Amino acid sequence: MNRVRDPKLLPVVEKVERGERLSFEEGMLLYHTPDLNTLMRLANLVRERKHGDKTFFVHSLRLEFTNICYVGCTFCAFAARKGDPRAWDYDPDVVVEKVREKWEPGITELHMSSGHHPNRPWSYYLEMVSKLRAAFPTLQVKAFTAAEIEHLSKISKKPTLEVLRELKEAGLAALPGGGAEIFADRVRRQIAKNKVKAEKWLQIHREAHSLGIRTNATMLYGHIETLEERLDHMDRLRKLQDETGGFHSFIPLAFQPDANDLAKSLGKREFTTGLDDLRNLAVARIYLDNFDHIKGYWVMISSDLVQVSLDWGVSDIDGTIIDEHIAHAAGATSPLGLSKQKMVEMIQSAGRVPVERDAFYNVVKVWNQLPLVPEKAKALAKARA
Ligand code: SF4
Repeated sequence: MNRVRDPKLLPVVEKVERGERLSFEEGMLLYHTPDLNTLMRLANLVRERKHGDKTFFVHSLRLEFTNICYVGCTFCAFAARKGDPRAWDYDPDVVVEKVREKWEPGITELHMSSGHHPNRPWSYYLEMVSKLRAAFPTLQVKAFTAAEIEHLSKISKKPTLEVLRELKEAGLAALPGGGAEIFADRVRRQIAKNKVKAEKWLQIHREAHSLGIRTNATMLYGHIETLEERLDHMDRLRKLQDETGGFHSFIPLAFQPDANDLAKSLGKREFTTGLDDLRNLAVARIYLDNFDHIKGYWVMISSDLVQVSLDWGVSDIDGTIIDEHIAHAAGATSPLGLSKQKMVEMIQSAGRVPVERDAFYNVVKVWNQLPLVPEKAKALAKARA
């Protein structure tokens, strides 16, 4: 019998068990409760109702075609100014070549997000997507955050809806979830004051969904935001998802405390704690009842913690992500990509069934052979029963 140790949580437990939606105040109780057992159990309940023991991942490539950016977000350690020796800026043919160099059989998704380049014309982006499409017809190009889409709208002098439409025609498959950071104005002014505004970010995703372009949503946490501001961020996403149903997954991104102005000004050297990461994932899983997947991003919270997170509501661990640079520039200590075998082992040894998917969550393969560590899997299954 599962005992609820925090009496304030009892009505929340009953609602989640009945499959009902939580109010904002009830969501805040999840952020404050000391009863971690119950929090974990509820998050796992929601996860298993949706997906049973399945955990999803994608065999993916990461490519940042430029790090040149004029926006100046204070949390960013990736961007460089033009002329900086750290700067890079690939022509479309070089982008195709880079993908060819990193190519492995079975890769389905290319994830590209980059800086806001001050001089590249609109035609450059269409050409890049078209050339990728022609060179790798089976590759699903997931590219351009809503912040980048706004930038493309400015340089093309076209509305964002038209930008999205033309990119889709050129071969764009999906949008990543970046640029969201934290929606609250107070925080946005301090960490991303020149970036797309929250309402515009949401509008661009609304427009993408209206064109049949599925997207993800992120939240950068662990810097100056309050817990209310985190939940407010999720609340705005939940409302848009009610309206469009176009989000695939929600991805909390833990702030990385190296080599950026925000970390320096806060005197912050520490990463988020594992407990904060897990609680945040669990709250997201319970509160975002209309999202299919909560993603544990191993690049930022480590592959060890991501395994634990599979009991805290996470049903997707992103992918092999070969050659990630944005989080690593800010101090992420994880490897620059993982093999598919490693992803499978991570999921199996946590007692879950690995499901390889593509960018649209079509199932590529269910890795349903016996877990590699059967005793551990058995013990975990028993503990969860
Ligand atoms: S987070 Fe993106 S938009 Fe902001 S400075 Fe870095 S690269 Fe530019």
